[in-house]
Amino acid sequence: MEKACRDCHKMVESGKAMCTCGSNSMSTDWSGYVMIIDAKESEIAKKLEIKKAGKYALKVR
Ligand SMILES: [Zn+2]
Repeated sequence: MEKACRDCHKMVESGKAMCTCGSNSMSTDWSGYVMIIDAKESEIAKKLEIKKAGKYALKVR
């Protein structure tokens, strides 16, 4: 099961203990995800304050 970072909402591979943002606060209780290709051109990225491309959870609890 993939985990999502509570700080930046990025999806983190199950084997990894730390997110690329440096946070180790992760949750398996998330719902929905988006693929951000170009963070600068994406409205969803702006809304979620995402600055880098990647896969992000919409909601993390
Ligand atoms: Zn993160």
